Formats: sequence, C-alpha cells, structure tokens
Amino acid sequence: MKIIDVGLGKRSYPIMVGAGLLREVGRDLRQRAVAKRYVVIADDRVAALYGKTLIDSLTGNGISCDLLTFPRGEASKNMVTIARLASSLAQLGVDRKDCLVALGGGVTGDITGFVAAIYMRGIPFVQVPTTLLAQVDSSVGGKTGVDIPEGKNLVGVFYQPRAVYIDSRVLTSLPADELLNGLAEVVKYGVIYDRDFFDFLGANREQILQVDPQVIEEVVVRCCQIKAAVVAADEKEADLRRILNYGHTLGHAVEAASDFAIAHGMAVAMGMVAASKLAVAKGLLAVSEAGRISQVIAGFGLPVAIPRELDHNLMKSFLKTDKKAVAGRPFFVLPTRIGQVTITDDVAEELIDLALA
Ligand code: NAD
Repeated sequence: MKIIDVGLGKRSYPIMVGAGLLREVGRDLRQRAVAKRYVVIADDRVAALYGKTLIDSLTGNGISCDLLTFPRGEASKNMVTIARLASSLAQLGVDRKDCLVALGGGVTGDITGFVAAIYMRGIPFVQVPTTLLAQVDSSVGGKTGVDIPEGKNLVGVFYQPRAVYIDSRVLTSLPADELLNGLAEVVKYGVIYDRDFFDFLGANREQILQVDPQVIEEVVVRCCQIKAAVVAADEKEADLRRILNYGHTLGHAVEAASDFAIAHGMAVAMGMVAASKLAVAKGLLAVSEAGRISQVIAGFGLPVAIPRELDHNLMKSFLKTDKKAVAGRPFFVLPTRIGQVTITDDVAEELIDLALA
C-alpha cells in the first residue's frame, strides 16, 4: 500500500492506495478511531457492487454501520438528496461523534462531503472513491457541493475528509466511458505539472486502457501526489490550485452548450486541445508540444475537436458566465511546455474564436 499525505496542518489526511484496500478499510478505521459508528453513503449501483464488501470490512472489525443509498447519476446531486440524507441521518440518531463514508464516484463524494459539512454543523467523513475520476481528482482536496438549476456545483463548501481509501481493483468493473472520463483528468496532470508522467502515459497507453493493475495504480498514485501538492499549497483556489482548471474553462463551455450531452471528460479533452491551440496562437507554446498533447489525448480515444454543430456564440456566452470568470472575463490555463502552465485572462476575442473553431 502507498500512502500520500495531504499536508493541511491540523486538517491533514492520508490518501491510501492499494489493490484490495476495500477489505482493509474497517481495520484501518478501527486503528484510527475516527468515530464510534459509521454511515456508508453510495449510489444504487455502487452499493450493489461494493456495499457488502465494505460493510463486512467494518462489521468484521467490530464497527457498527448503516448504509444509505440514492439513485445513481448527476441528477441526484441536488438539495433534495441532501435534505433526504440529512433526515435519514437524524432518524438513525447519527451525532457529531459519528462518521460518513462516501463509497462511489464524484457524485457520491460531493454529496456525502456536503452533508457531512452541514449536518450538525459538521461531522467527519472519509472517501472511498470507486471511479477513476474520483480516485485521481474529486476525492482529494475537499471541494463538496451540489448542482442547482442555475448551474453545476453552484452550492457547496470546502470540507476535507479524514482519510481517502483507494482500491485500484474496483476500476475493473468501471464502464469504458467512465474510465475515459477519468483519463482526461489524468492527462491534465501530466500537462500541467509533470512531463515525465505525461511521457509515461503516452508509453503505457494500452496497459492503462486495459486497466493493468500495476500501471493503473502507478497512475492513480502520481495523480494523487500532484493533487495533494497543489491542494496543500493552495487549499481554497486563490492561486496555484487554479492550474487544475486546464481544459476546464473551454471544456465547461462545450459541455454547457451541448446541454450536457457531451460528457465532462470528453469536454475537458476538447478543452485541453483548444487551450493548447490558444497557447500556440499567443506564442507561448511550440507547435510540436501542442501536437504531442493532441496525440496523447487522441491515443486514449478521447476527442480532440469541438463538434462543428455546437453553437459558437452560445459557447462564448457560457465562457463569460463561467463561475470562475471575474467580471465576465474568463481565465485560461495555458501550457508553456508539457509539464508547465501559465494562467491568464488576457486573451483576445479573435483568439477565443480560433480556439473554439
Ligand atoms: P459518478 O459518481 O456519477 O459515477 C459515474 C457512474 O459510475 C455512476 O453510474 C456510478 O454508479 C458508476 N460507478 C462508480 N464506480 C463504479 C465501479 N467501480 N464500477 C462500476 N460502476 C461504477 O460520476 P464521476 O464521474 O465519478 O464524478 C462526476 C462528479 O464529480 C460530477 O458531479 C463532478 O462535478 C464531480 N467532481 C468533483 C470534483 C471535486 O473536486 N469535488 C472534481 C471533479 C469532478
């Protein structure tokens, strides 16, 4: 098992990564003595796949626990689910000494973290992420929250988990499109932070796509190390953490303009390629580097071109209303070489047109 520390002073926590770790969660939680009792929260699919293994691990270590479920999918990530879960916790008599366990993808992690943050003004929670996206991204860093009709992730708080348990073996049951969703974020880490890792991804494409246990674990560990370092340096996204938005400014515009028919990972892949085109147009990035970024993204079967049928002006209007835009000016994370980026809001409209074309 590998352990990565997220260094946040008193709120520091470990990310543990290992094949078969799901069965060890109970033993580790007993040793850490985080709480006297646990409530596992999972969507219906993940509960059916892995709920029993996790619950057996807890009860087998003398830990009492309950399971609460909700229907899978982004549509559940809303205030109604939060209210239902909070009521269920109250009915179970859960108090401040108890702990929630998020078992699932990013939707489950965001929901569970948010309930944990606001129930009784805050109770502990731990993350047991089961999608690649959740393992390399959403379970680390403490962003929690839900969607409202006016926009995705518009309501939420920063609230860090007490520990993150990553079992790379659960990725073998992940549908191929969910794997791809996570792979877009994986490539992102290489471009923004680590050229050697980017090269590793290019060289191990087949093993990664086949979820080779050793290679995928190496990938997850490196991504968590990078995310942990970035979050430890800038927990609340005042500065450095903004680099994690590479591909996301343009990606969000693509996602929203497609009315979310284009999945997040696909949109981020297109956004990363578009941002690298922007960087070339601004004279910040060599054409050969941009070519290499597109090549690795395409090599994983991720899209590199924004579909022509998407309304250009609609994408531009989403760029201006992006929740990370300041006074209608979006910021862009642009690569200057593979492994290094710069952040700017100084991008002429013609260049945005070019990137979206
Ligand atoms: P998800 O949680 O909906 O999971 C995707 C699907 O995979 C679900 O149907 C789920 O039931 C299924 N699934 C999960 N694990 C499985 C497994 N091991 N085997 C088989 N099926 C499995 O979606 P996601 O892509 O994991 O997360 C997306 C969410 O994460 C979005 O809401 C996004 O806003 C959020 N997010 C949050 C952060 C953050 O920092 N908090 C970062 C990125 C994304």
